[in-house]
Amino acid sequence: MTQSCIYCAQDERLDNIMIEIGKLRVSTLYLFKEQTYRGRCIVALNEHQTEFFHLSQEKQDAYMRDVAQVAQAIERAFAPGKINYGAFGDTMPHVHFHIVPKYENEYTWGKMFEMNPAPNKQLSEQEYEELIGLIKLHLQ
Ligand SMILES: [Zn+2]
Repeated sequence: MTQSCIYCAQDERLDNIMIEIGKLRVSTLYLFKEQTYRGRCIVALNEHQTEFFHLSQEKQDAYMRDVAQVAQAIERAFAPGKINYGAFGDTMPHVHFHIVPKYENEYTWGKMFEMNPAPNKQLSEQEYEELIGLIKLHLQ
């Protein structure tokens, strides 16, 4: 746990870029506010670990089940052409995966997704709530 880590500090730096959807087995699911990729989410581990392989086997399994559950919900909710998974963290070294739905012939289809897409598509509070509702509906 370190206060420089936005996932641990849970402060406005986090609130500025994502909205908590809910807790999973060992992680927390967030909706990424920038929605060029409709349905884009982040699955962040609930404890501060810098590398996935530092986790116990049980935690690794539980975390990947969380990731799979989220990806399934996103597929059911938004029917993307493909889901991309990104785990980087050079400057934010707390285990988290970007779950990024990609849509055929839309933005960066066939290429690496962009961390901060140029369109910078921000939605209204109501639109965020609708997306979150759809994801929650399909999370079971
Ligand atoms: Zn952290």
